[in-house]
Amino acid sequence: MNQLSNHFPTAELQNSDAAHHLHPFSDHETLIREKSRVIVRGEGVFLWDSDGNRIMDGMAGLWCVNVGHGRREIADAVHEQMLQLSYYNTFFKTTHPPVVALSEKLTELSPDGFNRVFFAGSGSEANDTVLRMVRHHWAILGRPEKSHIIGRKNGYHGSTVAGASLGGMSGMHAQGGVLSGISHIRQPYWFDEGGDLDPDAFGLLCAKALEEEIDRLGEDKVAAFIAEPLQGAGGVIIPPPSYWPEIGRICRERDILLVADEVICGFGRTGAWWGSETFGIEPDLMPIAKGLSSGYLPIGGVLVKDTVGDVITSGGGEFYHGFTYSGHPAACAAALKNIEILQRERIVERVHDHIGPYLQARWASLGDHPLVGEARMVGLVGALELVPDKPSRKRFANEGLAGGICRDHSFKNGLVMRAVRDSMIISPPLTITEEEVDLLVALVEKTLDDTEHTLRSTGRLSA
Ligand SMILES: *Cc1c(COP(=O)(O)O)cnc(C)c1O
Repeated sequence: MNQLSNHFPTAELQNSDAAHHLHPFSDHETLIREKSRVIVRGEGVFLWDSDGNRIMDGMAGLWCVNVGHGRREIADAVHEQMLQLSYYNTFFKTTHPPVVALSEKLTELSPDGFNRVFFAGSGSEANDTVLRMVRHHWAILGRPEKSHIIGRKNGYHGSTVAGASLGGMSGMHAQGGVLSGISHIRQPYWFDEGGDLDPDAFGLLCAKALEEEIDRLGEDKVAAFIAEPLQGAGGVIIPPPSYWPEIGRICRERDILLVADEVICGFGRTGAWWGSETFGIEPDLMPIAKGLSSGYLPIGGVLVKDTVGDVITSGGGEFYHGFTYSGHPAACAAALKNIEILQRERIVERVHDHIGPYLQARWASLGDHPLVGEARMVGLVGALELVPDKPSRKRFANEGLAGGICRDHSFKNGLVMRAVRDSMIISPPLTITEEEVDLLVALVEKTLDDTEHTLRSTGRLSA
């Protein structure tokens, strides 16, 4: 790969950014002091910063660049669509060809019984749509009191008020509060909370928490349960195999709608088109975003099974909901081309049959490192648990410190890994090659060694 010469005055950009740009999920005091990294180009699995350093994008942007960076044919499709029809809305009995084509394509790719899609501009808006749609659905059926929604602690469903409320991030709840009529049950996080139980027994215990919460509220009051097939932002928490079948049984028996938030898992991340396929989930609604366009333009939506779709479309009058950019033509064109690439290059099959198992095997071997308590992965999304004492699964006293040190070393070594507390996360573009996997794993090994060295030399790792 050739290096990019520096056409960008890094310090000027950083200073201006620090002065005028409020960043998402950032501690601005730290950010202003330490300055932002300026990313100027992307190609395949690589990024370049404004000083010409090449960095492997181990996170596919924010879990979204499934087909890799720099696809000219997506840019061309958007360009052509913008010249033809740059914008028109889909309110007031109007439509346009790209939104029709994308709706048809998505329902063709979805599990049986999913025949409709509602478009939004992001995953957060998709989950706002979920909240309003499930309540509307029960109201049409004459059961408006069936309105409570159950989510999970440490789940992530976006950053709008509804998204943050459905999610179970306590830090987010503390800033701005939680909507009423939403509660959260425990997460199936065996490594942290499983104790002496084997994973399957623990999975069943966590699923039973849903039944207990429904009993507490009364099943005639509960509209839906929402969860990610695997928790992404919560730390790539992969539920034990016993968990989802039991959740499915409970929702069916209690007449509770099941919402699988596919914003990360959808479009191949777990080695199938849907995380629901990988984990054996039969949802009624699937919010989507991220991999839908591989991040080339912002777009999200909710895939709707006939159980809900038939109700919404055959009574209840107008659903007072929608966004100016629902089904934006250029975003639809980007998503259509992205899906065409996923299909033409058989990228999802490749994750399932070949590159997924290849990285999973290499990743598992990282579990031998003295700092790593667990190395887990499904498809091409995984985590390493950093611990001071492997056998006990005990965590570092100062949570997040080791993760932060590891993330900084990783960047220095030319790899984007994300730290969630003391879990290191990767979710690379699905197009990553074997050679690039080897490089990724070598960079992680070096990063773990560097992290161990820093922890030892600062007295945070004794034995
Ligand atoms: C990222 C994410 C969202 C929110 O999507 P935005 O496009 O950032 O609004 C919702 N759900 C899950 C599971 C996510 O990972």
